[in-house]
Amino acid sequence: MRQNAIRKFFWFFLLILSVAFLVINSVLLHQKINPAVFLVFILADVFILLYFLKVFSDRSLLVHFQIERNTEQVNIIKAENKRDREFVQALEFKITRYDNLKKVIEDLNRSLKLDTVIHVLSSAVYSLISNNSGCALFYLVNNQYQKLNLVYSIKDDSDLVVLTKEGDIFDQWVLRHSSQLIIEDLKNDFRFDLEALPNLEARPVLSLISSPLISHNSLLGLLRLESKNSGAFNQDDLRFLSLVADLGAAAVENSLLFQKEQDLAIHDGLTALFTRPHFITRLKDEARRILRLDQHLSLMMIDIDFFKQYNDKFGHTAGDIVLKKMGHLLKNTLKEFNPLLCRFGGEEFLVMLPEVNKQKASGIAEDLRRRIEKENIVLRRQDTQVTVSIGVASLPLDTKDEDELIQKADKAMYSAKRKGRNRVCSI
Ligand code: GH3
Ligand code: MG
Ligand code: MG
Repeated sequence: MRQNAIRKFFWFFLLILSVAFLVINSVLLHQKINPAVFLVFILADVFILLYFLKVFSDRSLLVHFQIERNTEQVNIIKAENKRDREFVQALEFKITRYDNLKKVIEDLNRSLKLDTVIHVLSSAVYSLISNNSGCALFYLVNNQYQKLNLVYSIKDDSDLVVLTKEGDIFDQWVLRHSSQLIIEDLKNDFRFDLEALPNLEARPVLSLISSPLISHNSLLGLLRLESKNSGAFNQDDLRFLSLVADLGAAAVENSLLFQKEQDLAIHDGLTALFTRPHFITRLKDEARRILRLDQHLSLMMIDIDFFKQYNDKFGHTAGDIVLKKMGHLLKNTLKEFNPLLCRFGGEEFLVMLPEVNKQKASGIAEDLRRRIEKENIVLRRQDTQVTVSIGVASLPLDTKDEDELIQKADKAMYSAKRKGRNRVCSI
């Protein structure tokens, strides 16, 4: 560097010297210079000038290259910065998601009700993954028919109307493979035959993610998110959905067990009608509502005639079949009256008919009695029949108290027994 400067100074000094010599000789001293000497000086000056020109052009080229290299560096640093910023943003987004997962688990632990569990899971993935756009669907597997059943959906607009409640080809795929599914662009996904999708125009879904809910190797349902835009979901979204589905599966299983237990507690095992305590609770609520509305409510106490004899003749198992059949008959014959049916004990049944007055209830009871009388019960290729005695009492006509109402219906039933059975009586 230092040598370079000395060299440049030397050449510059020589240039000044030669120019000075020329000027002094030709201008100041008015002497005639030998043309050969003059030419040598001129050439030397030109050479020195050319040298400086080259030095400066080299330097400007160098500076230019330097600027280009620096610009390149700046661009690389900018791109790296952008990538880092995006990475930090993605991490922050993930942290928020997983923070929210804590709240989802707390919400799940707070309730054993199936409806609540399904709502918590669907809303969580809809807000945390879909940002409250598109559609979230929750299916439960109906074990009896091995079919899917849509039990909950959330959507941001009416476009994504659900056309089939039993799931489409994508849900069937998840069901068959017991595995998660991501479709980034439906039109370019050659795994699925779009022809098999009914009304694709009516349901413009372009991307979706779906995850099964599996607990103890059994498939309980599936959770699906969909969007009208392609590429709305990525692998991170699918991983998060699967995590929620795994957590949800245990919660759904607990709720299903709880629901089953509750069902068993309020339903009679043989006839599947309500048990006595549950019926009485419901009767109390309904009686209060009916009295407030100034309406009517009727009760029918039904008792099978000579059932002990029937048991003695055909056996206890045959008697059970009759009781079961009686449950079906009550359900089918009375369904239009919106009744509450109960096995009150042994071979006695209690029926509540809301918003039905005493006169109408007596008519209904008479139709029912005739229907039962006509029913053929085939036992070991032998036709058998049973008859019933029915007592009817109504609220508020007979009493305003629900316990007394049951007593009055019972009393009326015994009066039918006394009068010869197979008949309807009211107080
Ligand atoms: P009544 O016409 O006076 O009602 O005569 P009944 O024989 O029906 O009345 P009783 O109270 O003497 O007998 C009721 C019978 O119902 C006795 C019992 O064998 C039968 N029973 C009660 N619960 C069950 C049950 O769960 N299964 C079967 N098979 N029989 C039952
Ligand atoms: Mg009885
Ligand atoms: Mg009886």
